[in-house]
Amino acid sequence: MPELPEVETVAQELRDNVLGRRIKSVTAIWNRSFDNQCETALAGQSIERIDRKGKYLILNLERTFLIIHLRMTGQLLFYPGKVDAAEDHVRIIMQFVDQTELHFKDMRKFGRFYHVSDIQGILNNVGIDALDRQLGLPMFRKVLRNSKMNIKAFLLSQKYISGLGNIYVDESLFLSRLHPSTMVSDLTPSESKRLFENIVFVLKQAVRNMGSTISDYRDMYGNRGNNQKFFRVYGRAGDPCPVCGTQIKKIKFAGRGTHFCPSCQIKQET
Ligand SMILES: [Zn+2]
Repeated sequence: MPELPEVETVAQELRDNVLGRRIKSVTAIWNRSFDNQCETALAGQSIERIDRKGKYLILNLERTFLIIHLRMTGQLLFYPGKVDAAEDHVRIIMQFVDQTELHFKDMRKFGRFYHVSDIQGILNNVGIDALDRQLGLPMFRKVLRNSKMNIKAFLLSQKYISGLGNIYVDESLFLSRLHPSTMVSDLTPSESKRLFENIVFVLKQAVRNMGSTISDYRDMYGNRGNNQKFFRVYGRAGDPCPVCGTQIKKIKFAGRGTHFCPSCQIKQET
């Protein structure tokens, strides 16, 4: 599933390709992929700005907003000219007045376009983006305060800090030498500092590498990300830890396959 670096890659490619273009029509081939579709309200509007919050893409139109969540397999494809036959699994087709097209392809159909007049309804419960410039160490610590969760579930939830999914949580916890079951309330000041810095490091590295491709993720040009080559623990169960050589373990934790080094990431006994 695309996480912050993959969605950021798509956001940058959208800015390169569709920013400023005027919508001619938006057609849902699969209705459930499009929440509150309103063709007449969309037609004629141009795309003025493209933002991202966590795993959401936000297309700011002149009067309304299109919010996009790619979920498992959602993919945006840009075509510089009119397309005669859309690819398989294309759910939504956006045509621009200059004859270019943006297609939303989504094999598993969990992805969504939301057409809204106000972004708050959908983004209200989404916490501050993990790469938001306003998120420094003091705010990070403030967000951690009073949490009764373990750190893995906390970072996955999107409610407090958004953008991290299973891959980048496992990688950040490994670099921070924190066991995934560590309670947020037990983090020492030096641990929270380490964690914050490693989250930013891991995400920025992945953005530079155009995201990670495990199975389905492709960018707007159909390219795979490169960041999977840099994984330290994710998907590497049985391999030696890059720091100490102990075999990387995979367990089920917080409902997800969780990768960690049992020597570097010692479980705290309470
Ligand atoms: Zn290790």
